[in-house]
Amino acid sequence: MKICPRCGSKNVDWIIPQNWSVWECKDCDYTGPVIEGDEKIAKEIKEDYELKLKIEKSKSKKDKKNKEKTENQEKEYEETECEEELTDEEIERRLDELEI
Ligand SMILES: [Zn+2]
Repeated sequence: MKICPRCGSKNVDWIIPQNWSVWECKDCDYTGPVIEGDEKIAKEIKEDYELKLKIEKSKSKKDKKNKEKTENQEKEYEETECEEELTDEEIERRLDELEI
């Protein structure tokens, strides 16, 4: 059976009839060639994928923390310099960034 090489899902669709090598995975948005495998391989890939997801999640948490730190430093800098005038658009953009 066909399985997604990224997440091990069997939920893959052949999206381009002219190109047999391009498939789409409904579970992880992967597009590209799929692999031929069985339940065992699918399970192995899935476990591997979930582990990677976990690692990425904890990584992005860290990145977010670093980002917040940088933003705060920038803010302090701006407050001391007090030279930059922010447009409404810019303020809104920054607020959006902070809320993420
Ligand atoms: Zn997938």
